[in-house]
Amino acid sequence: MEQQLHNKRHTLAHLLAAAVVEQYPHAKLTLGPAIDNGFYYDIDFSGGESPKEEDLKSIQKGMKKLVNKWTEFTHEEVTAEQARAKFAGNQFKLELIDEIETKGEAITLYTAGGFTDLCRGGHCENPKADLAMDAFKLDKIAGAYWRGDEKNPMLTRIYGLAFETKEELVAYEFQIAEAKKRDHRKIAKEQGLLVFSDLVGSGMPMWTPKGNIIRNAVINYSRELNDRLGFGEVHTPNLNKAELFKCSGHYDQYKDDMMSVSSQYVKDEMFLKPMNCPQHTQIYAAEPRSYKDLPIRYADFANLYRDERPGELSGLTRLRAFAQDDGHVFCREAQVEVELMAILEIIKEALARYGVSYWIRLSLHDPENREKYLGDDASWEHSEGELREVIKKADIEYKEVTGEAAFYGPKLDIMAVDALGREWQISTIQVDRVQPERFDLTCVNEKGEQERVVMIHRALIGSPDRFIGILIEHYAGNFPLWLAPEQIAVIPVAEVHNDYAQNVHEQLKTAGFRSSVDTSSDSMGKKVRQAKKNRLPYFLIIGDTDVAAGTVTLESRDTGESVAMSITDLLVKLAAEASV
Ligand SMILES: [Zn+2]
Ligand SMILES: [Zn+2]
Repeated sequence: MEQQLHNKRHTLAHLLAAAVVEQYPHAKLTLGPAIDNGFYYDIDFSGGESPKEEDLKSIQKGMKKLVNKWTEFTHEEVTAEQARAKFAGNQFKLELIDEIETKGEAITLYTAGGFTDLCRGGHCENPKADLAMDAFKLDKIAGAYWRGDEKNPMLTRIYGLAFETKEELVAYEFQIAEAKKRDHRKIAKEQGLLVFSDLVGSGMPMWTPKGNIIRNAVINYSRELNDRLGFGEVHTPNLNKAELFKCSGHYDQYKDDMMSVSSQYVKDEMFLKPMNCPQHTQIYAAEPRSYKDLPIRYADFANLYRDERPGELSGLTRLRAFAQDDGHVFCREAQVEVELMAILEIIKEALARYGVSYWIRLSLHDPENREKYLGDDASWEHSEGELREVIKKADIEYKEVTGEAAFYGPKLDIMAVDALGREWQISTIQVDRVQPERFDLTCVNEKGEQERVVMIHRALIGSPDRFIGILIEHYAGNFPLWLAPEQIAVIPVAEVHNDYAQNVHEQLKTAGFRSSVDTSSDSMGKKVRQAKKNRLPYFLIIGDTDVAAGTVTLESRDTGESVAMSITDLLVKLAAEASV
């Protein structure tokens, strides 16, 4: 967050506190930071009445009135004793004062408009002049434990939204409202795409036949792209001995995120795999490789498992069980660039087909935090420079971010941008010289010597499961023809048109389309409403004219247009659209 906006948001938190104390004199203030979309303040109202959502308006009014007297912030450094006297009776502030004192840091009080709070600073110099009072809004009330610990008292958290301008606030609120409408959990339920069950466990989706049509379409498209890139698909088990992860380094670096499993027959420590890479090294290492065989490329759609905090699981956004359109390339140094370019080109093509825009994050290691990473400085510099070169050559928008690298190498993270402008990290490309070293992966070169190979990790759209969650929101549930689980419904106007409708439906099915025909006794209006509710890309209305002329009337979900055409023209049109 930009410092200036951060300061405005934090200043508003002070102002909120001042307005609350004025209206609720028993309120005990605790902490009030700036956050990504505004600010909040955690307040203890246990000494009396606490505000409800409908009281936010009056608090907000209070803030707008108070700000007129807030023309400057002054601050003074005080002793712990002075601070304790000032906040006597507020056990939360007293705890903070003790902490600051223990750390030996300065204790500062900030005052504006006669309201003083314990704070480290970071405010507007002149709140009255600097704050756009129409660019913020008290948003909601939630419960929050003091310092996030459930053993502590529950406080009341008042959230505010705050931006530089009113227009930005309005745009943000629109985006939130739109995101709510597009919530993939809601749409997936309405359309019957997937099921979560308490008996199965959270974060483990089960795809229904309808949802699995979409899932298979996504996976099969990745298969098609893999094929073009020269990847051979392998199939690997979900379970491994811990030794594999000890060798790869995951055991030391990643153990807490893996789910452990035990056997009643053998003592081996085992884990459900969180990624496929170590197994693929074993397929590569199963026989001697010649430089002539390289690059060798494996693709894998195996399910992966990661231990996640239950509170962080949400729909398809974060899962404990999911697949990836994963793949690994084993190649020589001189082949790395060509491989990377080919992968970037295919990702470009794939995301264009999904209609999703994106940029690339070049994720680098953090030299300040060296112990988090395997390998030496020289190999890190080499790998990072290499990725930078390739991405420049591929001419894709990118940003460099320190500290986001994997523990064994830098990454190119593909950041998808959805219809609402939200960013999602979907997949990753990595050049890895650490795993080949740890697993001793080589090929025999032209001179007959063992030569160390390089391993490239890559996914295209990442996890199909998670990606479909993004797509549902991106399309607002209106899947394009090639992904739609139900593509077209044939609706006869009256019973006399049923035979003809049935015949059209069969021709569509034969041509490979997911078609249905509704010959029930329901009214045509009801049938059309049903097709629209299920977000079918198309439906056909069959009436007298169609039967007489051997045509159909095609109505489009997206344009709302209806057009009469021959069955042959219909099949050509749909085939063209489905293969785009
Ligand atoms: Zn402050
Ligand atoms: Zn990998």
